[in-house]
Amino acid sequence: MIILGIESSCDDTAAAVIDGDANVLANVVSGQDAVHARFGGVVPELASRCHLEAITAVVDEALRQAGKTLGDIDLIAATQGPGLIGSLLVGFCYGKALAFSLARPFVGVDHMSGHLLSAFLEPRQPPFPYLALIVSGGTTALFRVDDFSRFSLLGRTRDDAAGEAFDKIARLLDIGYPGGPVVSRYAEQGDPSRFALPRAWLDDSLDFSFSGLKTATQQLHKQLACRNDASRQAIFDLCASFQQAVVEVLVEKSIRAAQTEALSHLVIGGGVSANSSLRRELLRRCTEASLHLYLPAPAHCTDNAAMIAFAGLQRYVNGDHGSWGDDVFSRSKLGH
Ligand code: ATP
Ligand code: FE
Repeated sequence: MIILGIESSCDDTAAAVIDGDANVLANVVSGQDAVHARFGGVVPELASRCHLEAITAVVDEALRQAGKTLGDIDLIAATQGPGLIGSLLVGFCYGKALAFSLARPFVGVDHMSGHLLSAFLEPRQPPFPYLALIVSGGTTALFRVDDFSRFSLLGRTRDDAAGEAFDKIARLLDIGYPGGPVVSRYAEQGDPSRFALPRAWLDDSLDFSFSGLKTATQQLHKQLACRNDASRQAIFDLCASFQQAVVEVLVEKSIRAAQTEALSHLVIGGGVSANSSLRRELLRRCTEASLHLYLPAPAHCTDNAAMIAFAGLQRYVNGDHGSWGDDVFSRSKLGH
């Protein structure tokens, strides 16, 4: 079975081709960073226009790299939500129309289920049940995953998502866009113990909160600037201290959730899970706690269509085919 996946929920136009054994034959992503960089965030109207311009070329390129033609495709899956409605409509309608014209089945996919299942794109796949930490620009949440369609929300952010906090700090420090990878690069050169920043533990809750950390970082930066002390090294140290505060809470709560739920397998997904400090620290703590950790390749952590193709295949195999009348949605039914 050959599956074409399409993803256009935010500012990446992506298409991928996988086979029925989750082998990724092609995984193409066309980003729009250059378009949105000068605004310091995604401009929805520009994003949907860019998707329209890119979608045909991206799908063609994925087919070319996979060595397949449209006639070889058995199933088409596209992201149905959550995300920006104008962006979602481009990939979803393109996939639906393509499937209809080829007389092939079409399934809509919840983007979050793609992140929750992205570890299956790797050679070492997790067994059920497992704990999933999903950390991205719009989501920070812990899920118990019992099978390909049963996801139980254990905790989630009460305010900003972790990726959103990274992006806001980068904008505040005016160091580039998108924020996560830049803050992470700066942090590699900084001292994480230089500044004491707050961690929101929220007692025993598995929820998260990053808005206090964001405000504290902002105030610290203001003080440094007032004292004419915002040297390049101070900014590196600020990024490192901020990143450490985020990573510590994410890791600690994941370990706690795995122990509370008696789960010995931990999976991560979403753009922030590409962060090397988070990956290192999780590996260290999981080894200590005898937990098995599954880290998807960075290209499968950030938004991509291979995870959508895989999640779509599972929906289809499950008999969950959807209908031609299905529409996109902006909020995940899996929680966020
Ligand atoms: P979702 O709709 O799932 O929230 P998204 O549109 O935010 O997805 P993703 O690619 O899943 O897209 O995640 C993007 C987020 O990940 C951005 O906030 C980005 O700054 C962050 N990110 C990417 N790479 C890194 C990194 N190395 N370190 C920290 N954050 C990162
Ligand atoms: Fe995402």
